[in-house]
Amino acid sequence: MTAPTDHLLRGGPAATEEIVDAFRDRARPVVEQVDGKDFRTQWQAMADLGVLRLADADSVDPGPVTRSLAMIEGIGLAGADPGICYALASQVFGMQFPLRATLRDPDWQALAHVQDGRTLLCHALTERKGGSDPLSMDTRARRDGDAYVLDGAKTFITAAPVADLAIVFARTGEGRSPFALSAFLFPVDTPGVRRGESFEKTALPSVPMGELVFDGARLPATALIGDEGSGLAVMSSTTAWERAVILGYALGPMRLLLRRTVEWAGGRDHFGRRMGASHQVAARISDMALALHRSRVQLYAMAARLDAGVPARQLAADAALTKISVSEDYVRLTEHATALAGVRAFVPGSGLAADPHSPLAALTYAGPNDLLRVGVARQFGLPVEN
Ligand SMILES: Cc1cc2nc3c(=O)[nH]c(=O)nc-3n(C[C@H](O)[C@H](O)[C@H](O)COP(=O)(O)OP(=O)(O)OC[C@H]3O[C@@H](n4cnc5c(N)ncnc54)[C@H](O)[C@@H]3O)c2cc1C
Repeated sequence: MTAPTDHLLRGGPAATEEIVDAFRDRARPVVEQVDGKDFRTQWQAMADLGVLRLADADSVDPGPVTRSLAMIEGIGLAGADPGICYALASQVFGMQFPLRATLRDPDWQALAHVQDGRTLLCHALTERKGGSDPLSMDTRARRDGDAYVLDGAKTFITAAPVADLAIVFARTGEGRSPFALSAFLFPVDTPGVRRGESFEKTALPSVPMGELVFDGARLPATALIGDEGSGLAVMSSTTAWERAVILGYALGPMRLLLRRTVEWAGGRDHFGRRMGASHQVAARISDMALALHRSRVQLYAMAARLDAGVPARQLAADAALTKISVSEDYVRLTEHATALAGVRAFVPGSGLAADPHSPLAALTYAGPNDLLRVGVARQFGLPVEN
């Protein structure tokens, strides 16, 4: 079912809008079938629609990043659980695309099966004592002959309780040298690796989060991504990709929230007239539309630049600005919807229940916005450090 307002804020190229619509329509019955089922079932159902499949790097109409963004927006519009949309966006944009850009072609080909959804990836950077400062990490990989021996732990990792493969950042050098870290990719069932604590969370509650513990895990040298010491460079790539487009996951949920709020304000009688006849109510609706419009334009602009071949690391400042802007617009849009729903925002089952936690979490993951702001100001030449 489409709403009368669905054609608004749809200013993308026709080929892109067609993908959004096609995935919305294909996902709708599947979303209904898997509603309320466990994470892996919902994940697989969306993966079976092709959402994790990257178009060839040279496809142009639209390019592969735009196509993936449109697919994710489409399933979000179909009402797929926002947590599933987030997890899919996280794997596609924060792992698959940067790995395809970084690995040698045969190594990427050997990994390409992750696109069918049966093998789940996780990106393990954060440690218990903190996430924002990677050079303070304790997890260590020690060279031993033709292998590395890994000790330490990564925590608050999306999908760690269910992932099959992990990208793990570890210290291979001392101190705060930019070459002190290395990145590894290996199966979670490697001897010496175990899943530690799992965490329930108030944001995106359907997505498992947990810990990975390494106790003398022996990794072949082929587990290295790039060269020893290039971990910070790999991380700059994965985080720039993530910041540029991961919040594409929110476009569907944002539009559904706007649509629901318009219907509520347009239909409810209040003070002897329609609630939406109030200029203040109308202004909130317009501000929600503005937040969605701004977010959509920025995310698709980032996707277009990545499709044009601009290396993600060159887009670091713009990616940070996009992440800050979209996450804060998602919070703002949710705040307006919450205000206009009144008490129903806090009553599950009212049809207008709000979820402020998931948008708020976007201020923190993929780099806390406060720290991203510092980084942006530094790029403008200010002598500011974290
Ligand atoms: C939903 C969700 C999913 C996540 N998934 C993953 C994942 O898959 N893999 C992974 O590795 N991690 C993941 N994380 C963890 C995330 O990356 C970290 O939360 C993030 O890096 C921040 O680290 P922290 O929470 O330790 O915050 P801290 O580093 O303790 O910072 C907390 C806050 O303190 C302030 N602050 C601290 N220092 C400064 C400073 N110098 N300047 C300005 N402000 C400062 C900022 O406001 C900052 O937000 C996830 C987090 C969430 C919420």
